[in-house]
Amino acid sequence: MDCVIYIRWSSTEQSRGSSLERQRTLCREHAQRHGWNVVAELVDDGVSAFKGRHATVGALGGFVREIESGAHPNGIVLLVEKLDRLSREEPSRVFMWMLQITQAGVDVATVDGDRRYTKGAFDMASIIEVVVKAQLSHEESAKKASRLAAAWAAKRAKLARGESIVMTRRAPAWLTVEGHPPRFVVMEERAAVVRRIFEETAAGFGKHHIAKRLNQEGVPTFGRAAGWHSSYIQKILASATVLGEMQPGAKARGEPRVAIGDPIRDYYPVIVDADLHARAQRSMAGRSRRVAGRGRRLVNIFSGLAKCGCGERMTFRGKGRKVRANGEMVNEDYLVCDAYQRGRGCGNRQHFNYQAWEIAVLDAVLSKAMGDERFASREEVRRLEVELAELTRLRDSCARQAETALRIFLETDRAEARTAWDGLIAQTDAAKAAIVATKRAIKAARGVVSAEEHQKRIADLVDRMVDDDEEARFKARATVMDAVHALIREIRFDARRLAAEVVLIDGLAAEVSASGPGTEPQFFYRYDPGFFE
Ligand SMILES: [Zn+2]
Repeated sequence: MDCVIYIRWSSTEQSRGSSLERQRTLCREHAQRHGWNVVAELVDDGVSAFKGRHATVGALGGFVREIESGAHPNGIVLLVEKLDRLSREEPSRVFMWMLQITQAGVDVATVDGDRRYTKGAFDMASIIEVVVKAQLSHEESAKKASRLAAAWAAKRAKLARGESIVMTRRAPAWLTVEGHPPRFVVMEERAAVVRRIFEETAAGFGKHHIAKRLNQEGVPTFGRAAGWHSSYIQKILASATVLGEMQPGAKARGEPRVAIGDPIRDYYPVIVDADLHARAQRSMAGRSRRVAGRGRRLVNIFSGLAKCGCGERMTFRGKGRKVRANGEMVNEDYLVCDAYQRGRGCGNRQHFNYQAWEIAVLDAVLSKAMGDERFASREEVRRLEVELAELTRLRDSCARQAETALRIFLETDRAEARTAWDGLIAQTDAAKAAIVATKRAIKAARGVVSAEEHQKRIADLVDRMVDDDEEARFKARATVMDAVHALIREIRFDARRLAAEVVLIDGLAAEVSASGPGTEPQFFYRYDPGFFE
């Protein structure tokens, strides 16, 4: 007899050792014992059986539809580890479902208890067993989901039907719940603060810095707190509610809140678009790696990239600026091999002047690192694209009307048709000109400019890296640091030749020197003997 194995598992179960593999092995062994021929394995992952969704969606739903369309006229066994893999729905509904599927010619078999429920042999005892098992299973789930489960189910069903509802009055601080039926209303001022927090994070600012700035500007907090605190900024940044997601959960007294089921998308109004959210997350991940605890000065933008020939990292030794006897101002910040400095077996005592090498390396890579997209303004692009669509519609409509006016004029020789035609042609031309301008603006907003303008843009950025204004300086350095880290894999300092090899993410490498105005460095694929080993 043919047999289909059905496996349902979730990542949380996986971690508790009730894995996909275990279910699969159990089911396969069981099928073999009974001499069944396994024709397919259906796997539903992450679809909670709690609300019985899996019976209509996912792999099991597909199987049921197959049965209904008569795909297995000679009957088939649906084999599961336990009955609750199939459903944890209301017992009466599970019973109906079992009855239906067995009527359609499917035998349902369980490894647990070695049961087989078939059309003819679906006797009273088995029925009671199914119902009782389902009941136990349902209660188990219901316990987890607390007594609110039923109400939640109804609300979720509403949501699934596309109705926008408010499930609880729990709402993030930038929303209020108003009206009957209750609706979420965005508090625009607060939403703007939230977006700003994400924007600034994406731009490389840390949460302490963001909190400080909000306090300096006197931006009111969302709660009773007297001022902004980095931990609150962190909380906002870590929350998916800004994306509109709601994670159902329950909280027992004195215990932390636990998540139940999958997050519900499009539950709250979206405050931060997915793109900005992702950029902020990337920036945070990068920050914690690169500038942990270094504060806002971002002195060493090569942190984590600079390596000594011995393989150890180069550490930054900042001594600041010094005036020499002859009045010359020198910068006394250096990159030094960490192994040498700590006396751990490296003889590279060379102190590489940080400032000189920053200039040299940026000279070599900055125009590569700062591609057009780094200057793009997404909001602006979106706004302009809408504008372009409107202008295009206007142009087409004017052109169509002009055509009609012209036809009327040619047919009737009426002066007003001629006048209308004149006006419409002028409008069409104006729309055309505006379209050209808007297209150009979109290119600019996307960051695309001519080669010279791009060079100028980068030169401006380099200027801002040494701006007197700390804010501007920080922002520019954060931008450059982000770009440089996205491009460079490693900078290897060679003490003997006083040169550095800059290796890019894609494996291209070039030698850079800090002595005098260098020539444009040539990037080549570096022969790496280890590559073929
Ligand atoms: Zn070394």
